Parts: sequence; C-alpha cells; structure tokens
Amino acid sequence: MGKRMVVVGGVAGGASAAAKAKRENPELEVVVYEKSPHVSYGACGLPYVLSGEIPSLTKLIARTPEAFRKQGVLVHTRHEVVEIDPESRTLTVFDHGEGRTFQDRYDHLVLATGARPQIPPIPGTEQEGVYTLRTLEDGERLLQALEGAKRAAILGAGYIGLEVAEAFRKRGLEVTLLEAKDRPLPHWDEEVGGLLKEELERHGVEVWTGVKVEAFRGMGRVEAVETSEGVVPADLVLLATGIRPNTGLAQAMGVALGPTGAIATDERMRTNLEGVYAAGDVAESFHRVLKRPYWLPLGDVANKHGRTAGSVIAGKEARFGGVVGTAIFKAFGLAVATTGLPLERALKEGYRAKKVFIQSQDGAHYYPGSAPLWVELVYEEGTGRLLGGAVVAHGHGALRIDTLAALLHREGTLEDLLALDLAYAPPYSPVWDPLLIAAQQAR
Ligand SMILES: Cc1cc2nc3c(=O)[nH]c(=O)nc-3n(C[C@H](O)[C@H](O)[C@H](O)COP(=O)(O)OP(=O)(O)OC[C@H]3O[C@@H](n4cnc5c(N)ncnc54)[C@H](O)[C@@H]3O)c2cc1C
Repeated sequence: MGKRMVVVGGVAGGASAAAKAKRENPELEVVVYEKSPHVSYGACGLPYVLSGEIPSLTKLIARTPEAFRKQGVLVHTRHEVVEIDPESRTLTVFDHGEGRTFQDRYDHLVLATGARPQIPPIPGTEQEGVYTLRTLEDGERLLQALEGAKRAAILGAGYIGLEVAEAFRKRGLEVTLLEAKDRPLPHWDEEVGGLLKEELERHGVEVWTGVKVEAFRGMGRVEAVETSEGVVPADLVLLATGIRPNTGLAQAMGVALGPTGAIATDERMRTNLEGVYAAGDVAESFHRVLKRPYWLPLGDVANKHGRTAGSVIAGKEARFGGVVGTAIFKAFGLAVATTGLPLERALKEGYRAKKVFIQSQDGAHYYPGSAPLWVELVYEEGTGRLLGGAVVAHGHGALRIDTLAALLHREGTLEDLLALDLAYAPPYSPVWDPLLIAAQQAR
C-alpha cells in the first residue's frame, strides 16, 4: 500500500500540493479535506465577477472534486479538520454534510488552511449589509447584495479594496473608500498613492484618507458609516482591512510559527514536525532582499508552495526559492506593480536607501496612443544595490516590474540594470526603456 498524504484546505496551496504529489508519485494515496463547498478556484478573479466582466463564479474554478477524483485524488468538501495528533498521525474530521465526526490517519500532512479577513473592532460589523471578500461563498453573498444596492463604503485601500471599488463603480454604485492612513496603497511610497487617488477620483470614487471609522449605523441592517470626518450613507459595506493566517489548527498540534505569525517552513515547505508541511497563505516565505522570513499571502506564491510540498512528498528534489514581494493589480485604467521594499520601509530596515521617481511613456513619444508610465527605483546609496521599485502604467507596460524582480532575486545593482539589453519598438517602449531612464537618473 502507498503512503497516505492528507491535505487540509483545498484552494490554491492545498490543491497544488495534492495534484503535484499524485502526478509525481501515483502510488501515493492523496486525500483533501476542505471545509467549504469549493476547492481549487482563483479567488483573485472574484473582483471581476463582481464587476460583471466574468459572467459567473463557476468560471473561477480550476478543478472540481470530480476532476480530482479522475486524477486519483480524493476530495472531501464541507469536511473540516478539527484536531490533529502528530504523535499518532491521526486527524479528527467533522463532516458538515452528515453532521458526524470521524478519524483519519496520515503519513504526510500538508497544512494549507490559508488566511481569513481581519474584522476590525468597530461596533456594528455584525449587521446585515457588512461583508468581507475572501472565498467563493463571500463572492456569492456579495453578488446578491449588489442587487438593489446603491451606495457602498469600502474600508481599506489595499489592493482588494481598490479592485472592489472599481467593480462596484462598474455596477453603478456610489463608492466611498475609507482609509485610515494618508493615501491609497499605504504600504507603498506616496507618489504611487497619489497616482491612485487621482485615478479613483477620476472614476467617481470618493476617497477619504486619514479617516477613523467609529461605528456602523443601522437597526440590524447597515445604513451608514460613522467616521471621524463625518457620516457616509451606505447600504453595503466591504471590510477590506487585511487578513491573518489561519494558524489555529497548526498551533494546537505544536507546529511552530515564525516571526511573522504564519507557519515557519524550510525551503522544502517542511515545518518543525516530522511529516508535516505547510503551503500557501498560512505559511511564511524567505524574503531574498530582507534575508529573513516574510509573509506574502498571494496566489502565485501559494501555488509554488503547494507544488514544492507536493514534489517533496512525492520523493522529488524541489525547493521554494523565496520571494522578493512582487505584486500587481489593476485600479480602473492603471496597472500598479511593486516589488521589494518601498523607500519608507527600506529606511526603517536601516538601509542607506534613496529613490528616484520618474515619468516616462509606454511607447515612443510619436507613436499614437502611447501613454504615461511611471517608475520608482529604491536603491542603496554607495553600492547602488537595488532594494525595490514600482511601475505604474496604463496597461501591460507595468509588467516591467518583472525585470526588477529578477534583479532583486540576484541582488542586482543599478549598474546591472543599466547593462540589460531590454526590448524596444515604438509601440512598446521609448528607445530608452523607462527602467533604464530611472536607473540613469539614480546613478
Ligand atoms: C479578492 C481577492 C483577490 C486576490 N487577488 C490576487 C491577485 O491578483 N494575485 C495574487 O497573487 N493573489 C491574489 N489574491 C490572494 C490569493 O487568492 C490567495 O493568496 C490564495 O487564495 C491563497 O490560497 P491558500 O490555498 O493558501 O488559502 P485560501 O485561499 O485561504 O484557502 C484555504 C482553504 O482552507 C480551508 N480550511 C481552513 N481551515 C480548514 C480546516 N480546519 N479544515 C478544512 N479546510 C480548512 C478554507 O476553507 C479555505 O478554503 C486575492 C485574494 C482575494 C480574496
């Protein structure tokens, strides 16, 4: 009999681990327990279902339980793992469908329990009309709520709040974005936040920054948001105020967390317990600029974690190479991409950091339709080592961020960037690529 691999959580990290392990080693028995009704879907697509650009939530599903079964992976939805004993390698599972509890065993275990929205301690969040967006079920609830809704308030101007602001505007709602800090995307430097604010306002989003939300007013159903700056009428509220890793199950069984509060793993996604792995938003990654564990709860990272864990369990050599913190999202006409450290963070980390911020174009100045594109480079004074950067564009030009990300993976410098042979043709770039212009300025 083959060894038994049990995966807890079946979205990005868990589904990748299960599929990869079975593919690499068909002898393995692979079982997935997922407490919700859905597995293997792209939560990243939820804002575009809300906007109506993607016609239904089912389009986001990559693989159904039936498709997994055909591959030889047994998926149990609506099954919650409630306890794990690492000594006897047994799990206690609650079947929400049948209302019964049973035991299972594992040789290899993957914890892929993901993350959950952080609900701010504001009076009135329990009322109808107040939502979070994390799962397919959250998407279903929000889609229903959009019917008949007129005024939305979104708390938090991180990328999810910004993506949903666009979706709600596309649905014709009045949208007020409420952010406690002084700009949208507050974890990044101010120029990018400034561009975002202009873009949001151009598309009719009211942006309130530096605002403290005090309460949600309503008699069981939300009617307005009380803030330090005044009252915002709203029949729909989205809390987009951050997430936390779901580490309860892991902690209870003795799995060690790292400094970020997510599960600590090595390059092979192994935890401190023999036979126990972690993957996805519940787990930390190694940050190659900071040289220490870092929590980057993103879908591409979750897939890579899962694939690494699955390969290792299947007996293959695999390592997760770490992250540099690369991300991209769309806010109306702008694509905003960041990697590494913003200047503020680099200075806090003790680097002698400087930055340049330039405006260029995404095509030659004479090419019809070429549009502005902005580049920020953060680098270390003296050595010229690149520490981070951002590219903001009106389209795919923002993917220039990947060049910077590649350099950050290799501890590249401004000189390394200047030495690169980058692509040029008038529709796609000025003759000096905007990254090179920024690097020249920095030098
Ligand atoms: C609106 C939105 C937009 C996003 N956009 C992007 C994007 O553009 N790019 C990007 O890279 N990332 C994006 N992400 C993030 C990405 O979706 C997540 O990083 C990814 O879903 C993480 O996958 P995961 O498997 O680690 O965790 P999750 O998706 O959180 O899945 C974990 C699963 O584990 C289950 N579970 C938990 N505990 C138990 C238990 N005890 N027993 C059984 N099952 C359990 C949960 O029910 C859940 O289904 C977005 C996320 C959201 C919500």
